[in-house]
Amino acid sequence: MPSATVNISEIIDFMGSKLSRKEEELLLKAYKFSEQAHAGQKRMSGDPYFFHVFETAKILARLGMDTQTVATGLLHDLLEDTKITEAEIQKEFGEEITFLIKGVTKLGTLKYHGHERHVESLRKFFVAMANDLRVVIIKFADRLHNLRTLEFIREDKRKRIAVESIEVYAPLANRLGMGKLKGEIEDAAFPYAYPKEYAQIEEIIKEKKESYEKCLAEVREILEKELKKNKIKVDEISYRMKHKYSLYKKLLKYDMDIEKIYDIVALRVVVENVEECYRILGLVHSIWNPLPGRIKDYIAIPKPNGYRSIHTTIFTGILGVAEVQIRTKEMHAEAAYGIAAHFAYKEQNKKSRDDKSKFKWIEELKELKYVPGEPKTFIEHLKMDFFNDRIFIFTPKGDVVDLPEESTPVDFAYSIHSDIGNHLFGAKINSKMSQIFTKLKNGDIVEIITKKDSRPSSKWLEYTKTTIAKKHIKSYLEKNSLLSKLKSFGRS
Ligand code: MN
Repeated sequence: MPSATVNISEIIDFMGSKLSRKEEELLLKAYKFSEQAHAGQKRMSGDPYFFHVFETAKILARLGMDTQTVATGLLHDLLEDTKITEAEIQKEFGEEITFLIKGVTKLGTLKYHGHERHVESLRKFFVAMANDLRVVIIKFADRLHNLRTLEFIREDKRKRIAVESIEVYAPLANRLGMGKLKGEIEDAAFPYAYPKEYAQIEEIIKEKKESYEKCLAEVREILEKELKKNKIKVDEISYRMKHKYSLYKKLLKYDMDIEKIYDIVALRVVVENVEECYRILGLVHSIWNPLPGRIKDYIAIPKPNGYRSIHTTIFTGILGVAEVQIRTKEMHAEAAYGIAAHFAYKEQNKKSRDDKSKFKWIEELKELKYVPGEPKTFIEHLKMDFFNDRIFIFTPKGDVVDLPEESTPVDFAYSIHSDIGNHLFGAKINSKMSQIFTKLKNGDIVEIITKKDSRPSSKWLEYTKTTIAKKHIKSYLEKNSLLSKLKSFGRS
Protein backbone atom coordinates (compact mmCIF):
# COMPACT_ATOMS: atom_id res chain seq x y z
CA MET A 1 0.00 0.00 0.00
CA PRO A 2 1.43 3.39 -0.94
CA SER A 3 2.34 5.38 2.11
CA ALA A 4 1.34 9.02 2.04
CA THR A 5 4.55 11.01 2.16
CA VAL A 6 8.26 10.89 2.80
CA ASN A 7 10.39 13.57 4.34
CA ILE A 8 14.00 14.59 3.88
CA SER A 9 14.35 15.07 7.62
CA GLU A 10 14.39 11.27 7.92
CA ILE A 11 17.69 11.27 6.06
CA ILE A 12 19.08 14.41 7.63
CA ASP A 13 18.30 13.18 11.13
CA PHE A 14 20.01 9.94 10.32
CA MET A 15 23.19 11.61 9.13
CA GLY A 16 23.09 13.63 12.30
CA SER A 17 25.37 16.27 13.67
CA LYS A 18 28.25 15.72 11.29
CA LEU A 19 26.34 17.53 8.54
CA SER A 20 27.30 21.12 7.84
CA ARG A 21 24.72 23.72 6.95
CA LYS A 22 25.84 23.61 3.35
CA GLU A 23 25.52 19.85 3.17
CA GLU A 24 22.03 20.00 4.61
CA GLU A 25 21.08 22.52 1.95
CA LEU A 26 22.49 20.29 -0.76
CA LEU A 27 20.37 17.36 0.41
CA LEU A 28 17.27 19.51 0.58
CA LYS A 29 17.89 20.84 -2.90
CA ALA A 30 18.45 17.36 -4.32
CA TYR A 31 15.30 16.17 -2.61
CA LYS A 32 13.11 18.92 -4.08
CA PHE A 33 14.69 18.74 -7.51
CA SER A 34 14.21 14.99 -7.76
CA GLU A 35 10.68 15.03 -6.40
CA GLN A 36 9.67 17.54 -9.03
CA ALA A 37 11.45 15.75 -11.87
CA HIS A 38 9.79 12.42 -11.00
CA ALA A 39 6.37 13.99 -10.37
CA GLY A 40 3.53 11.87 -11.73
CA GLN A 41 5.70 8.78 -12.28
CA LYS A 42 4.66 5.61 -10.53
CA ARG A 43 6.38 2.37 -9.56
CA MET A 44 4.83 -1.03 -10.30
CA SER A 45 3.77 -1.11 -6.66
CA GLY A 46 1.64 1.98 -7.23
CA ASP A 47 3.95 4.12 -5.09
CA PRO A 48 5.23 7.40 -6.47
CA TYR A 49 8.51 6.79 -8.30
CA PHE A 50 10.18 9.28 -6.02
CA PHE A 51 9.85 6.86 -3.11
CA HIS A 52 12.35 4.59 -4.80
CA VAL A 53 15.09 7.21 -5.04
CA PHE A 54 14.29 8.38 -1.54
CA GLU A 55 14.70 4.87 -0.13
CA THR A 56 17.91 4.43 -2.08
CA ALA A 57 19.30 7.60 -0.49
CA LYS A 58 18.19 6.36 2.90
CA ILE A 59 20.09 3.11 2.50
CA LEU A 60 23.18 5.13 1.57
CA ALA A 61 22.78 7.35 4.63
CA ARG A 62 22.46 4.23 6.75
CA LEU A 63 25.68 2.92 5.26
CA GLY A 64 27.35 6.11 6.46
CA MET A 65 28.17 7.42 3.00
CA ASP A 66 29.19 11.02 2.39
CA THR A 67 26.70 13.77 1.47
CA GLN A 68 27.53 13.80 -2.25
CA THR A 69 26.77 10.09 -2.44
CA VAL A 70 23.51 10.35 -0.51
CA ALA A 71 22.44 13.27 -2.72
CA THR A 72 23.25 11.15 -5.77
CA GLY A 73 20.97 8.49 -4.33
CA LEU A 74 18.13 10.99 -4.60
CA LEU A 75 19.15 11.99 -8.12
CA HIS A 76 20.34 8.67 -9.52
CA ASP A 77 17.45 8.00 -11.92
CA LEU A 78 17.15 11.51 -13.38
CA LEU A 79 19.06 10.80 -16.59
CA GLU A 80 17.39 7.48 -17.23
CA ASP A 81 13.81 8.20 -16.29
CA THR A 82 13.13 11.94 -16.58
CA LYS A 83 13.58 14.74 -19.09
CA ILE A 84 16.39 16.32 -17.07
CA THR A 85 19.62 16.59 -19.09
CA GLU A 86 23.21 16.14 -18.09
CA ALA A 87 23.84 19.85 -18.62
CA GLU A 88 21.10 20.76 -16.16
CA ILE A 89 22.47 18.42 -13.53
CA GLN A 90 25.92 19.81 -14.10
CA LYS A 91 24.65 23.34 -13.63
CA GLU A 92 22.61 22.60 -10.51
CA PHE A 93 24.83 20.07 -8.72
CA GLY A 94 28.31 20.31 -10.24
CA GLU A 95 30.95 17.96 -11.56
CA GLU A 96 31.15 15.30 -8.87
CA ILE A 97 27.45 14.47 -8.60
CA THR A 98 27.08 14.49 -12.39
CA PHE A 99 29.94 12.03 -12.64
CA LEU A 100 28.35 9.74 -10.06
CA ILE A 101 24.90 9.85 -11.71
CA LYS A 102 26.39 9.06 -15.10
CA GLY A 103 28.26 6.13 -13.57
CA VAL A 104 25.11 4.73 -12.00
CA THR A 105 23.12 5.23 -15.21
CA LYS A 106 25.73 3.34 -17.18
CA LEU A 107 25.63 0.43 -14.78
CA GLY A 108 21.84 0.48 -15.01
CA THR A 109 21.88 -0.50 -18.65
CA LEU A 110 23.67 -3.73 -17.86
CA LYS A 111 21.66 -6.89 -17.62
CA TYR A 112 22.56 -10.40 -16.75
CA HIS A 113 21.32 -12.38 -19.73
CA GLY A 114 23.13 -15.03 -21.71
CA HIS A 115 26.74 -15.88 -21.21
CA GLU A 116 28.43 -13.26 -23.31
CA ARG A 117 26.34 -10.34 -22.14
CA HIS A 118 27.03 -11.43 -18.63
CA VAL A 119 30.74 -11.26 -19.14
CA GLU A 120 30.59 -7.81 -20.57
CA SER A 121 28.34 -6.58 -17.81
CA LEU A 122 30.72 -7.78 -15.22
CA ARG A 123 33.60 -6.06 -16.82
CA LYS A 124 31.85 -2.72 -17.11
CA PHE A 125 30.83 -3.10 -13.56
CA PHE A 126 34.39 -3.56 -12.47
CA VAL A 127 35.81 -0.78 -14.52
CA ALA A 128 33.27 1.58 -13.09
CA MET A 129 34.15 0.37 -9.68
CA ALA A 130 37.81 0.95 -10.19
CA ASN A 131 37.11 4.52 -11.20
CA ASP A 132 34.96 5.38 -8.24
CA LEU A 133 33.74 2.82 -5.77
CA ARG A 134 30.92 5.11 -4.72
CA VAL A 135 29.18 4.41 -8.04
CA VAL A 136 29.07 0.73 -7.14
CA ILE A 137 27.81 1.41 -3.64
CA ILE A 138 24.97 3.59 -5.00
CA LYS A 139 24.12 0.78 -7.40
CA PHE A 140 24.04 -1.66 -4.48
CA ALA A 141 21.59 0.58 -2.62
CA ASP A 142 19.44 0.98 -5.74
CA ARG A 143 19.41 -2.78 -6.25
CA LEU A 144 18.60 -3.51 -2.62
CA HIS A 145 15.51 -1.33 -2.75
CA ASN A 146 14.47 -2.87 -6.06
CA LEU A 147 14.82 -6.32 -4.53
CA ARG A 148 12.64 -5.32 -1.63
CA THR A 149 9.87 -4.32 -4.03
CA LEU A 150 10.36 -7.27 -6.34
CA GLU A 151 6.96 -8.80 -5.61
CA PHE A 152 5.38 -6.26 -7.95
CA ILE A 153 7.55 -7.23 -10.91
CA ARG A 154 6.71 -9.71 -13.67
CA GLU A 155 7.74 -13.21 -12.75
CA ASP A 156 10.40 -13.90 -15.41
CA LYS A 157 12.01 -10.54 -14.82
CA ARG A 158 11.86 -11.10 -11.10
CA LYS A 159 13.82 -14.33 -11.37
CA ARG A 160 16.49 -12.74 -13.56
CA ILE A 161 17.02 -9.83 -11.20
CA ALA A 162 17.14 -12.11 -8.16
CA VAL A 163 19.67 -14.51 -9.68
CA GLU A 164 21.79 -11.64 -10.95
CA SER A 165 21.81 -10.13 -7.49
CA ILE A 166 23.03 -13.34 -5.92
CA GLU A 167 25.62 -14.13 -8.57
CA VAL A 168 26.98 -10.70 -9.41
CA TYR A 169 26.11 -8.14 -6.75
CA ALA A 170 26.45 -10.16 -3.57
CA PRO A 171 29.93 -11.58 -4.30
CA LEU A 172 31.06 -8.09 -5.16
CA ALA A 173 29.65 -6.63 -1.94
CA ASN A 174 31.40 -9.44 -0.09
CA ARG A 175 34.66 -8.73 -1.84
CA LEU A 176 34.39 -5.14 -0.65
CA GLY A 177 33.86 -6.39 2.88
CA MET A 178 30.28 -5.13 3.01
CA GLY A 179 28.94 -8.12 4.91
CA LYS A 180 25.70 -6.54 5.99
CA LEU A 181 24.75 -5.40 2.52
CA LYS A 182 25.79 -8.74 1.04
CA GLY A 183 23.52 -10.54 3.49
CA GLU A 184 20.64 -8.18 2.85
CA ILE A 185 20.95 -8.49 -0.93
CA GLU A 186 21.10 -12.28 -0.76
CA ASP A 187 18.20 -12.59 1.63
CA ALA A 188 16.00 -10.23 -0.37
CA ALA A 189 16.78 -12.14 -3.58
CA PHE A 190 16.75 -15.70 -2.19
CA PRO A 191 12.96 -16.35 -2.19
CA TYR A 192 12.65 -15.20 -5.82
CA ALA A 193 15.80 -16.86 -7.12
CA TYR A 194 15.31 -20.25 -5.45
CA PRO A 195 11.79 -20.47 -3.96
CA LYS A 196 11.87 -24.18 -3.06
CA GLU A 197 15.19 -23.98 -1.28
CA TYR A 198 14.08 -20.85 0.51
CA ALA A 199 11.00 -22.60 1.90
CA GLN A 200 13.22 -25.43 3.10
CA ILE A 201 15.48 -23.05 5.02
CA GLU A 202 12.51 -21.24 6.54
CA GLU A 203 11.30 -24.58 7.84
CA ILE A 204 14.66 -25.47 9.40
CA ILE A 205 14.97 -22.09 11.08
CA LYS A 206 11.47 -22.26 12.46
CA GLU A 207 12.23 -25.61 13.97
CA LYS A 208 15.55 -24.71 15.55
CA LYS A 209 15.44 -21.04 16.39
CA GLU A 210 13.88 -21.31 19.79
CA SER A 211 16.28 -23.87 21.22
CA TYR A 212 19.29 -21.96 19.92
CA GLU A 213 18.11 -18.72 21.41
CA LYS A 214 17.39 -20.35 24.73
CA CYS A 215 20.93 -21.66 24.79
CA LEU A 216 22.45 -18.30 23.99
CA ALA A 217 20.32 -16.47 26.52
CA GLU A 218 21.82 -18.68 29.18
CA VAL A 219 25.37 -18.19 27.90
CA ARG A 220 24.79 -14.49 27.84
CA GLU A 221 23.58 -14.35 31.42
CA ILE A 222 26.55 -16.28 32.75
CA LEU A 223 29.00 -14.29 30.66
CA GLU A 224 27.59 -10.94 31.72
CA LYS A 225 27.99 -11.87 35.37
CA GLU A 226 31.60 -12.91 34.85
CA LEU A 227 32.38 -9.76 32.88
CA LYS A 228 31.05 -7.67 35.70
CA LYS A 229 33.05 -9.60 38.27
CA ASN A 230 36.19 -9.05 36.22
CA LYS A 231 35.33 -5.40 35.59
CA ILE A 232 35.47 -5.74 31.82
CA LYS A 233 33.31 -3.16 30.14
CA VAL A 234 31.53 -4.26 27.00
CA ASP A 235 29.95 -2.03 24.46
CA GLU A 236 27.30 -4.42 23.30
CA ILE A 237 26.24 -8.03 23.61
CA SER A 238 23.74 -9.23 21.05
CA TYR A 239 22.59 -12.27 19.12
CA ARG A 240 23.03 -12.50 15.47
CA MET A 241 21.04 -14.87 13.33
CA LYS A 242 22.85 -16.28 10.32
CA HIS A 243 21.53 -14.86 7.07
CA LYS A 244 19.23 -17.33 5.36
CA TYR A 245 21.06 -17.60 2.09
CA SER A 246 24.45 -18.13 3.71
CA LEU A 247 22.91 -20.76 5.95
CA TYR A 248 21.60 -22.45 2.80
CA LYS A 249 25.03 -22.40 1.20
CA LYS A 250 26.64 -23.78 4.32
CA LEU A 251 24.05 -26.54 4.55
CA LEU A 252 24.83 -27.55 0.99
CA LYS A 253 28.44 -28.00 2.02
CA TYR A 254 27.42 -30.28 4.90
CA ASP A 255 24.90 -32.49 3.07
CA MET A 256 22.03 -30.48 4.55
CA ASP A 257 22.92 -31.78 8.02
CA ILE A 258 21.85 -29.01 10.38
CA GLU A 259 23.63 -30.64 13.34
CA LYS A 260 26.98 -29.87 11.75
CA ILE A 261 26.37 -26.14 11.70
CA TYR A 262 27.28 -24.33 14.88
CA ASP A 263 26.75 -20.71 14.03
CA ILE A 264 23.09 -20.44 13.06
CA VAL A 265 22.79 -18.14 16.01
CA ALA A 266 25.86 -16.56 17.57
CA LEU A 267 26.52 -14.37 20.57
CA ARG A 268 28.33 -11.24 19.62
CA VAL A 269 30.42 -9.28 22.12
CA VAL A 270 31.60 -5.82 21.09
CA VAL A 271 34.30 -4.05 23.13
CA GLU A 272 36.56 -0.98 23.00
CA ASN A 273 39.96 -2.45 22.16
CA VAL A 274 41.87 -5.50 21.02
CA GLU A 275 43.33 -6.39 24.45
CA GLU A 276 39.82 -6.74 25.79
CA CYS A 277 38.90 -9.07 22.93
CA TYR A 278 41.59 -11.52 24.05
CA ARG A 279 40.73 -11.10 27.73
CA ILE A 280 37.15 -12.02 26.96
CA LEU A 281 38.24 -14.99 24.87
CA GLY A 282 40.22 -16.22 27.89
CA LEU A 283 37.26 -15.66 30.14
CA VAL A 284 34.90 -17.53 27.81
CA HIS A 285 37.27 -20.49 27.66
CA SER A 286 37.65 -20.52 31.43
CA ILE A 287 33.87 -20.89 31.80
CA TRP A 288 33.13 -23.27 28.91
CA ASN A 289 35.27 -25.76 27.04
CA PRO A 290 36.02 -24.70 23.47
CA LEU A 291 35.51 -27.07 20.58
CA PRO A 292 38.99 -27.97 19.29
CA GLY A 293 39.79 -26.54 15.90
CA ARG A 294 36.99 -23.99 16.07
CA ILE A 295 38.88 -21.06 17.56
CA LYS A 296 39.39 -18.57 14.77
CA ASP A 297 41.52 -15.50 15.28
CA TYR A 298 40.63 -13.25 12.38
CA ILE A 299 42.13 -10.34 14.32
CA ALA A 300 45.66 -11.69 14.00
CA ILE A 301 44.95 -12.97 10.50
CA PRO A 302 42.04 -11.13 8.86
CA LYS A 303 40.00 -12.76 6.12
CA PRO A 304 41.01 -11.74 2.60
CA ASN A 305 38.15 -9.24 2.43
CA GLY A 306 39.39 -7.54 5.59
CA TYR A 307 36.97 -9.14 8.08
CA ARG A 308 38.32 -9.10 11.64
CA SER A 309 36.85 -10.80 14.72
CA ILE A 310 37.55 -13.70 17.08
CA HIS A 311 35.23 -16.69 16.79
CA THR A 312 35.05 -19.60 19.17
CA THR A 313 32.61 -22.45 19.56
CA ILE A 314 31.93 -23.68 23.09
CA PHE A 315 30.25 -26.64 24.74
CA THR A 316 27.46 -25.33 26.90
CA GLY A 317 26.25 -28.62 28.34
CA ILE A 318 22.82 -30.02 27.67
CA LEU A 319 21.88 -27.14 25.41
CA GLY A 320 24.58 -28.03 22.92
CA VAL A 321 27.27 -25.92 21.30
CA ALA A 322 27.23 -22.18 20.66
CA GLU A 323 29.39 -19.72 18.80
CA VAL A 324 30.75 -16.56 20.42
CA GLN A 325 32.17 -13.72 18.30
CA ILE A 326 34.36 -11.08 19.93
CA ARG A 327 35.46 -7.83 18.25
CA THR A 328 36.03 -4.12 18.73
CA LYS A 329 33.57 -1.42 17.76
CA GLU A 330 35.69 -0.45 14.80
CA MET A 331 35.84 -4.04 13.55
CA HIS A 332 32.12 -4.32 14.03
CA ALA A 333 31.48 -1.33 11.77
CA GLU A 334 33.95 -2.61 9.20
CA ALA A 335 32.44 -6.08 9.16
CA ALA A 336 29.06 -4.57 8.38
CA TYR A 337 29.99 -1.79 6.01
CA GLY A 338 33.40 -2.77 4.63
CA ILE A 339 34.68 -0.27 2.19
CA ALA A 340 31.80 2.05 3.03
CA ALA A 341 33.15 2.23 6.59
CA HIS A 342 36.34 3.59 5.12
CA PHE A 343 34.42 6.46 3.57
CA ALA A 344 32.52 7.07 6.76
CA TYR A 345 35.54 6.97 9.06
CA LYS A 346 37.87 8.82 6.75
CA GLU A 347 37.13 12.09 8.48
CA GLN A 348 37.44 10.84 12.03
CA ASN A 349 40.43 8.64 11.39
CA LYS A 350 43.03 10.91 9.93
CA LYS A 351 45.71 8.23 10.10
CA SER A 352 45.75 7.12 6.54
CA ARG A 353 44.74 3.57 5.83
CA ASP A 354 46.57 1.59 3.28
CA ASP A 355 43.64 1.25 0.94
CA LYS A 356 45.89 1.03 -2.05
CA SER A 357 47.46 -2.29 -1.25
CA LYS A 358 44.21 -3.61 0.20
CA PHE A 359 42.40 -3.01 -3.05
CA LYS A 360 45.20 -3.82 -5.39
CA TRP A 361 43.06 -6.47 -7.04
CA ILE A 362 40.86 -3.68 -8.35
CA GLU A 363 43.84 -2.23 -10.15
CA GLU A 364 44.62 -5.65 -11.55
CA LEU A 365 41.12 -5.92 -12.96
CA LYS A 366 41.74 -2.89 -15.08
CA GLU A 367 44.52 -4.74 -16.82
CA LEU A 368 42.17 -7.44 -18.02
CA LYS A 369 40.82 -6.69 -21.43
CA TYR A 370 37.59 -8.08 -22.73
CA VAL A 371 38.04 -9.44 -26.23
CA PRO A 372 34.74 -9.93 -28.10
CA GLY A 373 34.29 -13.57 -29.03
CA GLU A 374 36.62 -14.66 -26.26
CA PRO A 375 34.40 -14.62 -23.22
CA LYS A 376 35.88 -17.81 -21.85
CA THR A 377 39.33 -16.46 -21.23
CA PHE A 378 37.92 -13.43 -19.56
CA ILE A 379 35.62 -15.40 -17.29
CA GLU A 380 38.47 -17.71 -16.41
CA HIS A 381 40.60 -14.76 -15.45
CA LEU A 382 37.80 -13.40 -13.38
CA LYS A 383 37.19 -16.64 -11.62
CA MET A 384 40.87 -16.97 -10.96
CA ASP A 385 41.62 -13.47 -9.86
CA PHE A 386 38.39 -12.24 -8.46
CA PHE A 387 35.79 -14.64 -7.21
CA ASN A 388 38.09 -17.18 -5.67
CA ASP A 389 39.25 -16.55 -2.18
CA ARG A 390 42.39 -14.61 -1.86
CA ILE A 391 45.27 -14.77 0.58
CA PHE A 392 47.33 -12.07 2.24
CA ILE A 393 51.09 -12.52 2.03
CA PHE A 394 53.53 -10.33 3.92
CA THR A 395 56.92 -8.97 2.93
CA PRO A 396 59.59 -9.17 5.66
CA LYS A 397 58.84 -5.50 6.32
CA GLY A 398 55.17 -6.26 6.92
CA ASP A 399 53.72 -4.90 3.68
CA VAL A 400 50.71 -6.87 2.55
CA VAL A 401 50.24 -8.33 -0.90
CA ASP A 402 46.82 -9.57 -1.90
CA LEU A 403 47.04 -12.76 -4.05
CA PRO A 404 44.67 -15.48 -5.27
CA GLU A 405 44.66 -18.73 -3.30
CA GLU A 406 47.40 -21.22 -4.20
CA SER A 407 49.72 -18.51 -5.42
CA THR A 408 53.44 -19.22 -5.24
CA PRO A 409 56.54 -17.10 -4.52
CA VAL A 410 56.69 -16.56 -8.29
CA ASP A 411 53.34 -14.73 -8.17
CA PHE A 412 54.47 -12.85 -5.12
CA ALA A 413 57.72 -11.72 -6.77
CA TYR A 414 55.91 -10.45 -9.87
CA SER A 415 53.30 -8.68 -7.81
CA ILE A 416 56.10 -6.63 -6.28
CA HIS A 417 57.92 -5.82 -9.51
CA SER A 418 58.48 -7.46 -12.89
CA ASP A 419 62.27 -7.12 -12.43
CA ILE A 420 62.13 -8.99 -9.15
CA GLY A 421 60.08 -11.69 -10.83
CA ASN A 422 62.41 -11.92 -13.80
CA HIS A 423 65.45 -12.38 -11.53
CA LEU A 424 63.80 -14.59 -8.93
CA PHE A 425 66.28 -17.14 -7.61
CA GLY A 426 64.86 -18.42 -4.35
CA ALA A 427 62.39 -17.69 -1.59
CA LYS A 428 62.31 -17.82 2.17
CA ILE A 429 58.85 -18.61 3.50
CA ASN A 430 58.57 -17.79 7.19
CA SER A 431 62.40 -17.54 7.24
CA LYS A 432 62.91 -21.05 5.82
CA MET A 433 64.48 -21.56 2.42
CA SER A 434 61.69 -22.97 0.24
CA GLN A 435 60.90 -24.06 -3.28
CA ILE A 436 59.77 -21.17 -5.45
CA PHE A 437 56.80 -23.31 -6.52
CA THR A 438 55.48 -23.81 -2.98
CA LYS A 439 51.81 -22.94 -2.57
CA LEU A 440 51.58 -20.01 -0.17
CA LYS A 441 49.21 -19.88 2.77
CA ASN A 442 47.37 -16.92 4.19
CA GLY A 443 49.66 -14.98 6.51
CA ASP A 444 52.98 -16.35 5.16
CA ILE A 445 55.95 -14.00 5.30
CA VAL A 446 57.89 -14.28 2.06
CA GLU A 447 61.33 -12.97 1.30
CA ILE A 448 62.39 -13.07 -2.33
CA ILE A 449 66.01 -13.73 -3.22
CA THR A 450 67.11 -12.48 -6.62
CA LYS A 451 70.23 -13.12 -8.68
CA LYS A 452 71.42 -11.10 -11.59
CA ASP A 453 71.72 -14.04 -13.98
CA SER A 454 68.60 -15.84 -12.84
CA ARG A 455 65.71 -15.86 -15.31
CA PRO A 456 62.22 -17.26 -15.93
CA SER A 457 61.59 -20.59 -17.62
CA SER A 458 58.45 -21.85 -19.31
CA LYS A 459 57.96 -24.21 -16.38
CA TRP A 460 57.09 -21.20 -14.22
CA LEU A 461 53.85 -20.75 -16.12
CA GLU A 462 52.53 -23.97 -14.57
CA TYR A 463 53.19 -22.65 -11.09
CA THR A 464 51.64 -19.22 -11.26
CA LYS A 465 48.11 -18.16 -10.47
CA THR A 466 48.05 -14.47 -11.26
CA THR A 467 47.46 -13.03 -14.68
CA ILE A 468 50.16 -10.48 -14.11
CA ALA A 469 52.89 -13.06 -13.45
CA LYS A 470 51.89 -15.15 -16.49
CA LYS A 471 51.90 -12.05 -18.63
CA HIS A 472 55.42 -11.05 -17.62
CA ILE A 473 56.81 -14.56 -17.92
CA LYS A 474 55.32 -14.99 -21.39
CA SER A 475 56.60 -11.69 -22.60
CA TYR A 476 60.07 -12.47 -21.22
CA LEU A 477 60.10 -15.86 -22.95
CA GLU A 478 58.88 -14.43 -26.22
CA LYS A 479 61.51 -11.74 -26.24
CA ASN A 480 64.18 -14.29 -25.47
CA SER A 481 63.24 -16.86 -28.04
CA LEU A 482 63.27 -14.04 -30.56
CA LEU A 483 66.71 -13.01 -29.39
CA SER A 484 68.13 -16.51 -29.57
CA LYS A 485 66.65 -16.96 -33.02
CA LEU A 486 68.29 -13.76 -34.10
CA LYS A 487 71.58 -14.89 -32.55
CA SER A 488 71.55 -18.28 -34.24
CA PHE A 489 70.56 -16.59 -37.45
CA GLY A 490 73.61 -14.34 -37.18
CA ARG A 491 75.90 -17.30 -36.51
CA SER A 492 74.85 -19.38 -39.50
MN1 MN B 1 16.89 3.26 -9.41
